[in-house]
Amino acid sequence: MMRIAQEKNLAEIVLVNLRDFATDTYRTIDDYPFGGGAGMIMKPEPIFKAVESVRQDNSHVILLSPQGRQFNQDVANELAKKEHLILICGRYKGVDNRVNEHLVNDEISIGDYVLSGGEAAALVLLESTLRLMEGAVTDKESVETDSFMQGLLDAPYYTRPADFRGYKVPEVLISGHHQKVKEWRQEQALKLTKEKRPDLLKSKVKMKEIKFKECGGRNGKRKKS
Ligand code: SAM
Repeated sequence: MMRIAQEKNLAEIVLVNLRDFATDTYRTIDDYPFGGGAGMIMKPEPIFKAVESVRQDNSHVILLSPQGRQFNQDVANELAKKEHLILICGRYKGVDNRVNEHLVNDEISIGDYVLSGGEAAALVLLESTLRLMEGAVTDKESVETDSFMQGLLDAPYYTRPADFRGYKVPEVLISGHHQKVKEWRQEQALKLTKEKRPDLLKSKVKMKEIKFKECGGRNGKRKKS
């Protein structure tokens, strides 16, 4: 997706090497923590200078950190609307806290576990954010029906053959009846979400949307059972 977004001129991804902003001959970017303790800390000067070398008025500066707000589809949707993102990847024991206090607008975690560096987290964030940009994916409907986009998991899908070793695909999918297929997918999405991720159904706003789907359409007509 990163290559496609760049080829389509939807995004330009620039890598900035913090060592280019170090001031000593060894290009040092880490130092011992004040107060002692294990591990090295990333120095503030190279990070501030690196960010300042690319920052624009519309930049949204993100520090990848296990202590940040949790990355999810809503955050990806939010970031996809930003014009310019700067992602700071930490290493070692972490970054000097003045980066959090005085440089960044946002701190994002990709989950409750600790990676050795922020690079993999930055890739996760970019991969999921770039595909949401207008024009990135040819089939827009495919993205809009993906898991989490409507507060539910996506429906199950099948492809040919319709009968594989006696395992048959649900009849409705080969019926050619588009409205019935649509309703079946909505029901399946709700069923799977209840089974696998009931936590997703807790949001009130999303429940409203789900209830509307259960009633079988925008006109609110209840489906015959
Ligand atoms: N001492 C830090 C702590 O416990 O909060 C962890 C530092 S970690 C070894 C080094 C770097 O990896 C972090 O500065 C951050 O950039 C990145 N990182 C680690 N886990 C991450 C996560 N779950 N989400 C985003 N970035 C993460």
